[in-house]
Amino acid sequence: MKLVAVSKFHPEEAIREAYAAGQRVFGENRPQEFARKVEALKDLGPEWHFIGHLQTNKLKLVLPYADLVQSVDSAHLLDAIQDWGKANGKVIRVLLELHIGAEETKTGFKEEVVLDILFRAGKYTHVRFCGLMGMASHTDCEEDIRADFARIADFKAYLADLFPELTDFRELSIGMSGDWRIALDYGATIVRIGTAIFGERQY
Ligand SMILES: *Cc1c(COP(=O)(O)O)cnc(C)c1O
Repeated sequence: MKLVAVSKFHPEEAIREAYAAGQRVFGENRPQEFARKVEALKDLGPEWHFIGHLQTNKLKLVLPYADLVQSVDSAHLLDAIQDWGKANGKVIRVLLELHIGAEETKTGFKEEVVLDILFRAGKYTHVRFCGLMGMASHTDCEEDIRADFARIADFKAYLADLFPELTDFRELSIGMSGDWRIALDYGATIVRIGTAIFGERQY
């Protein structure tokens, strides 16, 4: 299980402190902030994950440095990542973000679109499909959260069966500060924790 410390909105010093305490993987959700921190913390060279909405005109701030882009949420973005990877000779590791929460505003793919993409996975020569990411409904109702996590866990297992040739399709990134304990019951391989590590964010 991989713990991603979500350092968005926290200063570089906070990341250095976490690194000194042994944390090695960090997540950011805004391209500019991501690129700035990667540069400022080059001496540490931690593993960086991008976990936010990514616009296609911001790829160059993220793709050269991200070990994993967890938040691919549209076919348009995926196509752009493929093109960038091809042009720059890099294979980009991604998770597909599945829309599981109750909120209409949440980003992410519907199941049938993910299927569609993975049936055409061969055309993405510069993308490595490593699994799914999802955010549960923002609620205190544990039953709803469990239903969300069960849905994404079942779907990931289904996809792994259906596409055995995608040998890297292993990751299930679910669980944040408020619900990571529940996520562990559903086979989370990655949890993304911000507040519980760094405290409240100052927006
Ligand atoms: C901010 C964020 C997190 C961390 O949230 P916390 O509740 O602070 O742990 C996890 N995942 C994504 C995609 C985020 O944007």
